[in-house]
Amino acid sequence: MKAALRMIYPPQCLGCGGAVDQDGALCPRCWRDCEFVSGCACRRCGVPLPGDAGEDMSGADGSLICDDCLTMARPWRHGRAALVYRGIGRDLVLALKHGDRPDLAGPLGGWLALAVAPILREGMIVVPIPLHPRRLMQRKFNQAALLSAQTAKVHGLPHYPSLLYRTRQTPAQDHRRLEERYANLQDALAVAPRHRAELQGRSVLLIDDVMASGATMSAAAQALLAAGAATVCVAVLARAVKE
Ligand SMILES: [Zn+2]
Ligand SMILES: [Zn+2]
Repeated sequence: MKAALRMIYPPQCLGCGGAVDQDGALCPRCWRDCEFVSGCACRRCGVPLPGDAGEDMSGADGSLICDDCLTMARPWRHGRAALVYRGIGRDLVLALKHGDRPDLAGPLGGWLALAVAPILREGMIVVPIPLHPRRLMQRKFNQAALLSAQTAKVHGLPHYPSLLYRTRQTPAQDHRRLEERYANLQDALAVAPRHRAELQGRSVLLIDDVMASGATMSAAAQALLAAGAATVCVAVLARAVKE
């Protein structure tokens, strides 16, 4: 049956639709264009760092920390990213987000699950950054929740897709300055009262599709900690980098 299906629907490259050996793979050209975060990266936000195991970029705990994470408050402990938000990596994120490619959630969530493996801890729960209900209606699904569901499934962790919610609709962040981005999100995320009890003393793995300034993650992490979470770690499919 599977062989017959493969003749009708041969496996396609996630990026360009070209022929590949197996489902959920990239062709060699897209693979070269897709920047996976590996090796040297900030341990707090996942941004790739130049050079190898940097001696001059160590944080207080002796791990690699980027300049932004040294100067800005990051209310979470560890962070990881699977991809750089550029080229094919950006195309894949946008295809998942805009709804025409829900088939991407499995393979992309699989990449994210691999990236978070080093920061998982016993008893962790997995929580996505929520969409406002109005935006959810337009998009039909929350792309962050598709990714967090897959990550939770791969690692056998409890998944709480509606633990956080948006208290109000926030304007688009795209062309705002950093301070405005943070102000824009102040108190915009909160813990659903019905999940408060389950959150007490838990470690949370917070998941989103993209991290740019980190303002959304900060607001969400603050809400989780204020509501009783013990620690928060963050993971994104793709990390935006400064050109
Ligand atoms: Zn391709
Ligand atoms: Zn960083």
